[in-house]
Amino acid sequence: LKDASGTIQLVLDSINGPAASKSFRDKLLNLNPESILSVEGVVRQRPPDGIQRKDPNGDIEVMITHLKILNIADPLPFSTNPNSSVKPTEETMLKYRYVQMRQDSLQKNLRKRSETAHIVRNLLHSEGFVEVETPALFKSTPEGAREFIVPTRTHGLFYALPQSPQQFKQVLMAGAIDKYYQFAKCFRDESLGADRQPEFTQIDMEMSFVSQDDVMGVVERIMQRIWSQVVGIELPSTFKRMTYFDAMSTYGSDKPDVRYDLKIKPITDLLLDHIHESNSTVEALVVPEGTKFLSNQDTSRLHHTITQEKFPLYGGMVNPRDLIMERISDRNKSTWTKTMAKVGWIKSGAEDAKLSSTLNESLQLNPSDLLILNKRPSGYYGGHTIMGRVRSHLAQTLINKGHLKLGDPLQDPRFLWIVDFPLFTPIDRTVTSAAEQLLESTHHPFTAPPNSDIPLLFNNPTAARAQHYDLVLNGQEIGGGSIRVHDPVLQKYIFSRILRMSEERIQRDFGHLLDALRFGCPPHGGLAIGYDRLMAILCGAQSIRDVIAFPKLSGGDLFVNSPSMVDKEKLAEYGIACV
Ligand code: ASP
Repeated sequence: LKDASGTIQLVLDSINGPAASKSFRDKLLNLNPESILSVEGVVRQRPPDGIQRKDPNGDIEVMITHLKILNIADPLPFSTNPNSSVKPTEETMLKYRYVQMRQDSLQKNLRKRSETAHIVRNLLHSEGFVEVETPALFKSTPEGAREFIVPTRTHGLFYALPQSPQQFKQVLMAGAIDKYYQFAKCFRDESLGADRQPEFTQIDMEMSFVSQDDVMGVVERIMQRIWSQVVGIELPSTFKRMTYFDAMSTYGSDKPDVRYDLKIKPITDLLLDHIHESNSTVEALVVPEGTKFLSNQDTSRLHHTITQEKFPLYGGMVNPRDLIMERISDRNKSTWTKTMAKVGWIKSGAEDAKLSSTLNESLQLNPSDLLILNKRPSGYYGGHTIMGRVRSHLAQTLINKGHLKLGDPLQDPRFLWIVDFPLFTPIDRTVTSAAEQLLESTHHPFTAPPNSDIPLLFNNPTAARAQHYDLVLNGQEIGGGSIRVHDPVLQKYIFSRILRMSEERIQRDFGHLLDALRFGCPPHGGLAIGYDRLMAILCGAQSIRDVIAFPKLSGGDLFVNSPSMVDKEKLAEYGIACV
């Protein structure tokens, strides 16, 4: 007999009690697994007569006095024993999610999720936060990710599901709810991934009269409390910080995995006298002794992978000639720069040996090292550079081959704040005239620059930094937020002059927010933590689907079989026809 708390052995006395009846006994012994019983009996020590004491049934058993069969189970679609040799597909498991839920790992994950939520609620409650629910029927604001639209019976009018409660939480600050939080459901109609599905949960927070440090402090205390109570590890009182520029130039990513080195080194300055294109950046990455454990096949595969990826902010696809994999040996250590001349990056000249020696020294290059070089349009934009992708693919190859071991993600977590993001990111980098360059907000349009950078908004907005901070854990972004613009004039300037929204659009989509800022709204800021992703890390799960009770696959919800067709008549009520 088992329930959520464990398994216990039942004993039938064939002389007394219900099992005295042979037919009942037969019925019981032939029951399908997972049938539901109600048992009364005497709990007793298991007799030591030959029964192995270490079996999972423990030291006690129940001697049955009364037994009722409450519900006979049909043969199951798959075994609840995770070690069973027949492995169902993910689709089958999701269709019968309640059967899978009886397995240990999902049980543990869902219970840990609840326990963690409880810890977070307790902490925030003790710090004076107010839990507020915001509407799930929101408004279509065409920006960012694709949204889910909800038709209404007033023809032509639609709600949209919120991608986050961003505007509501800011308006709560105007409403004097000075510390808000919520376990908020968010909806984004994006393609599925191991850490993405169309609806997800955020621990959403907003606070009035706070600085960036205040918000980061609350989040650090949340993580400390979770790690202390769930993992049993005391985290440092503050987490490391790194600027966006340092993260992008050293690791090629705005969510760097700092558990391994493989640092990127810009070498453009050393090539200045030789390089053909003045607006290019050349970056190098050295894998010490890399030629010993990375074959030509490994490096060609890496080269191929990168040249298949798209880098819209760095000129599109990578020209294969702009990514060099050079195996350094005694033979080529003073001549390898010829490769850069051969592919046309630098002028071929007499300085080969001199240049190699300068570069060798700067890169601390030794025979048997693997040197990877990339030439690309200058600047740091978006979430990663080309070399950043090289770095993470390379690390994965090294991990697969057993040459790189990462620390335990739970016992040795590398929390890192990324700060000083650019406030705006160009949408199209092929446009060169500043007047035509379209910009989008790096975080969202409500994010404020530091006061010192406000003047830049009027003459050089791409140079303005944001009071925007992301929390990264072991190379994954687990939270992000910002200090918001609370001045309606500045907010309107950003909408109209920088993001170039029409007056009509500003009034339609953001008029209510601008109003709220006008009628006495304190300075405020906040952050949202991706709760599913955080739980996947805490549970050591491969995918967020392993920590969500009823997750979706690309086909939608396989348990209820949705999305599904709706009758024509019902659609007509909404003024909708499928064509
Ligand atoms: N609403 C933001 C997001 O979902 C988080 C924030 O700025 O608080 O990314």
